[in-house]
Amino acid sequence: MASPPNNNPLHFVLIPLMAPGHIIPMIDMAKLLARRHVSVSILVTHLDATRFSPVIDRAVESGLSIQLIKIRFPCEEAGLPRGCESADTLPSYHFIGNFFNAIIMLQKPLEELISKELMNNNPSPVSCIISDKHITWTAATCDKFRIPRIVFDGMNCFTQVVSNALFISKVYERGPPDEPFLVPGLPDEIEFTRNQLPGLFNPGPLDVTGVREQVRETEKRAYGVVVNTFEEVEKRYVDEFKTLKNGKVWCVGPLSLSSKGDLDISQRGNQASIDTDQCLKWLDGKNPGSVIYSCLGSLSRLSPAQFVEFALGLEESNHPFIIVVKKSGSKSEEIENWIKEDGIEERTKERGLFIRGWAPQVMILSHASVGGFLTHCGWNSTLEGISAGLPMVTWPMFAEQFLNEKLIVRILNTGVGVGARGVVHLGGDEVKASSNKLVKRSEIKEAIWRVMEERESGCERRKRAKEFGEMANKSVEEGGSSYLNIELLIRDIQQLVKK
Ligand code: UDP
Repeated sequence: MASPPNNNPLHFVLIPLMAPGHIIPMIDMAKLLARRHVSVSILVTHLDATRFSPVIDRAVESGLSIQLIKIRFPCEEAGLPRGCESADTLPSYHFIGNFFNAIIMLQKPLEELISKELMNNNPSPVSCIISDKHITWTAATCDKFRIPRIVFDGMNCFTQVVSNALFISKVYERGPPDEPFLVPGLPDEIEFTRNQLPGLFNPGPLDVTGVREQVRETEKRAYGVVVNTFEEVEKRYVDEFKTLKNGKVWCVGPLSLSSKGDLDISQRGNQASIDTDQCLKWLDGKNPGSVIYSCLGSLSRLSPAQFVEFALGLEESNHPFIIVVKKSGSKSEEIENWIKEDGIEERTKERGLFIRGWAPQVMILSHASVGGFLTHCGWNSTLEGISAGLPMVTWPMFAEQFLNEKLIVRILNTGVGVGARGVVHLGGDEVKASSNKLVKRSEIKEAIWRVMEERESGCERRKRAKEFGEMANKSVEEGGSSYLNIELLIRDIQQLVKK
């Protein structure tokens, strides 16, 4: 079924948002498309070019047609400190407005590139743009050059369907923000409080309403949506979302499974901050299924008080653990000081591994010693945990992470929540720990204990997680649902181009 090589191949231009959780899956997608003989160009800033050149160079050496198109990110013009070319490098989320202004400024240079080079023969005229949904001006650009625009949504179909139901019903507007309500019209009985909803329904202090409305408006106009999920994991929601989008939905994930080869897996997204052999050796020394791996994504920044509870909860769980400590954010020095003064790293050195900076997450998750994943429920991480067949401890923080938690805990039944109560709006330098939002060490310890326990419910959860892991892997193999969906996407664009 795979499309044959072609002298005048399709040429897809991928435009990712400059944030690890958005660009990493796009890079994976580029490889998948190129393996089906599509030529792919990816628009990247200089910072992301540095981060992703090694993986793209390897792909090119293996014969894939992928090119990185470097574009200058206008930090100074947008009032950003020099070098802040990705959301994870912002010194504070107060800069988020400046960040989006810089992104708007990219429209003109990209359009010049399209008219000078990309529409001509480099390597062939652009057949389609796959744009992150947050880069809204690509809608106007695609109209101008008459190129089909597909949006890449970093989220899953469950989130799409829930969001649609919330929009229509406005049910979240009725009661107090901490009162649970039932989302109407879903295949499952799902409850949320308004406090748990993403900013679109529950705005925070930062005024990004304009960006959100534009995202929604331009998403509606797109030709279709590519989703990083696989059909088997959320079948009823995939069907529902397809109905909403007139069938133009392609579920092509888990994209993390597109990384083949040790280097692509260990260096996915960034250069790991730990020697990967040392990390593997540490894991090799632990019993199968005994380690809890904990990482809260690329953007979460805990307050020192919350970090203390997090680290002590892991210690008190008595399991071997890996904790990823982010180095960005104004409070990271305070956190480091606490680690030193408390002595936790030294005290737990036999069974605790502190990784500062970037962890080789997908490599770690696939190691047999890892038995559970404590995650902030970013969709990439969640799906990586599902693909690794792991039960999860869920600690959602912001955006649509509470929705992802619900999918794991309530629908797949493969996780246990730490009891996070509401989103923490990005708007300070780090996730604020006001007293009602601080997750206590006892709650973290309890959730880890339940996920790792050997009694019946723990075993059943582990078994279900393993089954979803097997389904995930099958979906990307030849003949699997995601494998076929990539092909359907390519054929759809082929038909459009012929018209
Ligand atoms: N990631 C990683 N190492 C880290 C932190 C994050 O490899 O130390 C990767 C992770 O595997 C995932 C992505 O970064 O692919 C984070 O995306 P996600 O949607 O989970 O969360 P976000 O960072 O967008 O909140």
